[in-house]
Amino acid sequence: MVNLDPKNFNADEMIKMDKDHFWHHLTQHKVFESKDPMIITEGDGLIIKDIRGKEYVDATSGGVWCVNVGYGRESIAKVVYEQLKTMAYYAGSAGNIPAILLADKIISKMPGMSKVYFSNSGSEANEKAFKMVRQGNRKKYPGKDKTKILYRDRDYHGTTIAALSATGQEQRREDYGPFVPGFEKVPHACCYRCPFGKEYPGCDIDCAKALEDVILKEGPDTVGAYIVEPITAGGGIIMPVPEYYPMVQKICQKYDVLLIMDEVVNGFGRTGKWFGYQHFDVDPDMVTMAKGMASAYAALSATVTKQGVFDTFLENADKPMDFFRDISTYGGCTGSLAAGLENVHIMEEENLLENSTKMGEYLIGRLNELADLPIVGQVRGKGLFAGVELVADKATKEPLDEARMGKVMADVTAEGVLIGRTNRSFHNNLNNTLTFAPALVADEAILDRIVDAVRVALEKASK
Ligand code: PMP
Repeated sequence: MVNLDPKNFNADEMIKMDKDHFWHHLTQHKVFESKDPMIITEGDGLIIKDIRGKEYVDATSGGVWCVNVGYGRESIAKVVYEQLKTMAYYAGSAGNIPAILLADKIISKMPGMSKVYFSNSGSEANEKAFKMVRQGNRKKYPGKDKTKILYRDRDYHGTTIAALSATGQEQRREDYGPFVPGFEKVPHACCYRCPFGKEYPGCDIDCAKALEDVILKEGPDTVGAYIVEPITAGGGIIMPVPEYYPMVQKICQKYDVLLIMDEVVNGFGRTGKWFGYQHFDVDPDMVTMAKGMASAYAALSATVTKQGVFDTFLENADKPMDFFRDISTYGGCTGSLAAGLENVHIMEEENLLENSTKMGEYLIGRLNELADLPIVGQVRGKGLFAGVELVADKATKEPLDEARMGKVMADVTAEGVLIGRTNRSFHNNLNNTLTFAPALVADEAILDRIVDAVRVALEKASK
């Protein structure tokens, strides 16, 4: 049998093999040639170890906000092992025990929702949502083409071409066009950099009203859905004001536009609730999820809908092909579904939502202590999900330059802590924000280590 015990592997040999054939994600090719890659071999709680034995505190939950229950969960490994031995796979048209139980569990956390459609990644979950909107609306509104999807500046919805067509982060789109027709952009809701130059609460929530302007410009009969990240993640950890989503929902209802919440990052306790939208007075029609759903112990995602969305496929369902003609081959993998089930079980057993709320307040409180530094523009967040926007000048909000930003990141890493960042290296729309999303099992001591490392780096950069 294959033996993957890290003790069997020599660091130098592995680094050479890695450089020979492994095309890494998110890595500048020049840097990749000149610098040794980080090879992670072990994890326990929030601590990870690289192939040379160096330890880090991981404040990113696996780099991209996934490992919500922390590393080293034997119970997930065991549940997956048992399930795979018993029944590994049969294509998605058949049911299986973990799929039924997980769908039921998810719906129990989402009052008003009804159906769960499984797939493998956040991008895929969003693609399914777009396809449901297009096909469902063609059935529901015969003769109309109510299929356009509106999305927001600064939101991200995935890496595949349609998901990227719905993405408002220019640096991710550069070079990948032409994009899919029928996707239109709406301004964002970031108060720190209000797109309308206004100040809350005297702003009339123009960012919500902007949705109506775009619907009217495009023509209400052509607009099918509006997709948003409830609390924007990679765009800079942006939480809209309380009035925003109720207003957005009213506008959507007025023009029969479905509201899709992309919970790929926010979902599963990241912000202190099962789902980020549950912080607001809003009731979406569709919700997509991935990452924290199985804490990345396996690839798993879902598109969850209200009964009404499902029911549109019943209308005029007289032809044999009158159904949602989509398949996700691996959306039926029982191992991933079993991992998802045990992941939610751990969250319930260990009260991780409560911990996310309590420790999130602690983290954001401690990050706010950094606000005295001249390069800290704003601290924001919810639950164990926080951002610190860095500026060269507090008065003008000029973003921190790339050289200093890179140095901050390197200095935090040198302190043995891994954090994330937004990236404005080739467009300004994201600005420079440090991001924090530690596993939901974090305690005060580990959060202190994270914030202390960041203070060291920011003090150096402030000089
Ligand atoms: N939506 C959001 C909000 C995301 O942050 C991401 C991934 N970072 C995605 C969708 C796409 O997920 P995946 O990479 O699993 O396709």
